[in-house]
Amino acid sequence: TPTLRLDRLLANLGYGSRREVQYLVDSGAVTLDGKALEDADQRIAVTRDLTARMHIDGEPLDPLPGVVLMVNKPLGVTCSHKEAGPLIYGLLPPRWRRREPAISTIGRLDKETSGLLLMTDDGGFLHRVISPRSQVTKRYHATLDRPLRGDETEIFASGSLMLESEDKPLLPVAMEVLSSTSAYVTLTEGRYHQVRRMFAAVGNHVTALHRDRMGGLSLPDDLAPGDYRILAEAEIALIL
Ligand code: URA
Repeated sequence: TPTLRLDRLLANLGYGSRREVQYLVDSGAVTLDGKALEDADQRIAVTRDLTARMHIDGEPLDPLPGVVLMVNKPLGVTCSHKEAGPLIYGLLPPRWRRREPAISTIGRLDKETSGLLLMTDDGGFLHRVISPRSQVTKRYHATLDRPLRGDETEIFASGSLMLESEDKPLLPVAMEVLSSTSAYVTLTEGRYHQVRRMFAAVGNHVTALHRDRMGGLSLPDDLAPGDYRILAEAEIALIL
């Protein structure tokens, strides 16, 4: 089992600087199996059960590195650190934004797209999910400005649809018509504004876009917009 100095473990999880967490330990706020830990420089065996056994001010320790979250992204929130306005990172507890390794989004959704967004601090997992080779499917519910013409399913499935200002056709996209002005589309790629540009290419306009599935993982009905949840191993296994 890997071991880590207690002050390093807590600082990496965002509980404060090395000095701040030393004070925290000195104050008796950090317990293991119900007993206060006294030395901030003692080495701790970092095992999965630590989050149940260690408490900080009576609260269970935050998830150890290797966490995967799902967020129900609300409209109007940006998947970026840089831009102005509300950011996806603002939906997480402030301490989680100070973790090392940092938690970042697995791909992005447009500011005006809602729904299932994954976040992780596991760079290897992130790259496997977004790698074109993995072909993780992403399903979107699209609401349209105008009635479907009827040939869109075939055009999207053809593998020959060319988007404006690109030089490679899109891989086939499955479309399931729900009504004259709404459909599910399932992508294996993730080109810039792909769904909006696909419908623009067939003379329509997307007025609302919501992602509800990645691979075999669906956004649960009880996860409200703006809420997040830590994924269990079995849920992570549904993605890839
Ligand atoms: N396609 C889009 O147009 N926007 C998204 O956010 C995702 C897919």
